[in-house]
Amino acid sequence: MKHTLSRISSRITPLFSMIFKLLERQADHTKLTRHIVALNKKQSSTEIINEVALCLKDILNYRLFAFVIKKEKSVDIWLDPRMYKKSLENIILEDFCIKNKECLNYLNHTFHPDEQEEKFDMKDLVFYELNEENCYSRIYMLPQKHLYSYHDEVVNLILQACSAALSRQVKIENLKSAAVIDPLTGCYNRREFESQLKRNISGAIRHKNDLSAFMFDLDHFKKINDTYGHLAGDKVLQEVASLVQKNMRTGDILARYGGEEFIAILPATDKVKAMELADRLRAKISNKTIVHDNVAIKVTASFGVSELNRHADMTQIIQDADTMLYKAKLNGRNTVMPGLIKIFSNKETEKRKENTIFAG
Ligand code: GH3
Ligand code: MG
Ligand code: MG
Repeated sequence: MKHTLSRISSRITPLFSMIFKLLERQADHTKLTRHIVALNKKQSSTEIINEVALCLKDILNYRLFAFVIKKEKSVDIWLDPRMYKKSLENIILEDFCIKNKECLNYLNHTFHPDEQEEKFDMKDLVFYELNEENCYSRIYMLPQKHLYSYHDEVVNLILQACSAALSRQVKIENLKSAAVIDPLTGCYNRREFESQLKRNISGAIRHKNDLSAFMFDLDHFKKINDTYGHLAGDKVLQEVASLVQKNMRTGDILARYGGEEFIAILPATDKVKAMELADRLRAKISNKTIVHDNVAIKVTASFGVSELNRHADMTQIIQDADTMLYKAKLNGRNTVMPGLIKIFSNKETEKRKENTIFAG
């Protein structure tokens, strides 16, 4: 009897195990369908990656999941959990041929220096590649359970859906940015500037904040085109825009207003601070050397600064900056109007007096 029972049991156990596996697969496929439907409704790259992470957690219960998207000069990383950051960072730097850690941009959380780091065995790490026409990305994963071949199928299905959704998203984002960005300089275009100015004026009124603006125009720019050629002129415009952008705060908005004329909104900034910034930028532009076809080019710019008046008038703030810019041109160029009042030390005042007497 005992013998018969054990024989029956030895036949039933694999059968049960097979039924369990089939049920598990069935459940996984149901989850997969649910996640793919959700994925197609997502509105941003981060939301899409979030859904893929949820799906893989649901089905594979990973220990580590990282999604890395290649950008022109950087990579975007979505990482869960963050305690594998350091170990994975070196792998990403190598895989994406990146030398500078500053090019790694984390999408989903900020890191604290005292965070515990966990190591993992490289041979446990699996990766998948997604290569769409406009979007290359990699997924790194430490699965929690043994992967059967059908798990590979599951991963591939979710990745295909993700790839299509991301590629569609990149196209939408490109179209959106083409409508607001000036293609030569990467600054906002004039139309976008006007809508950003409206938004910032409302914000300034609501929070009772200062708001300033400056406009600048490159001096004798026609001469640069005539002397070095139009391509050199384009390079000057690009480099000046990038120099100014780098030296402004994140919330400041820079736009190309016309040919070689730019305009900026400085939220929560009073006029004196705006004049100081404009003067620093003026000095940086005049100290910069732009090299085109091995030729060194120097350029200067004139600045006009204005602030929001008590009527919170959008056209007035632009007009005031423009009037001041015109004055800066009349004042000899490479200058800021209104200028900061210079306070001279006693020694300097004496020297100026002496010079005046001498000159007289
Ligand atoms: P000022 O100091 O009075 O501003 O003199 P300017 O020569 O800079 O001003 P002007 O208005 O006489 O000339 C502006 C020049 O800017 C003429 C135009 O061809 C050039 N320009 C405008 N847009 C572009 C561009 O996208 N690329 C290049 N290379 N040149 C441009
Ligand atoms: Mg000019
Ligand atoms: Mg001009």
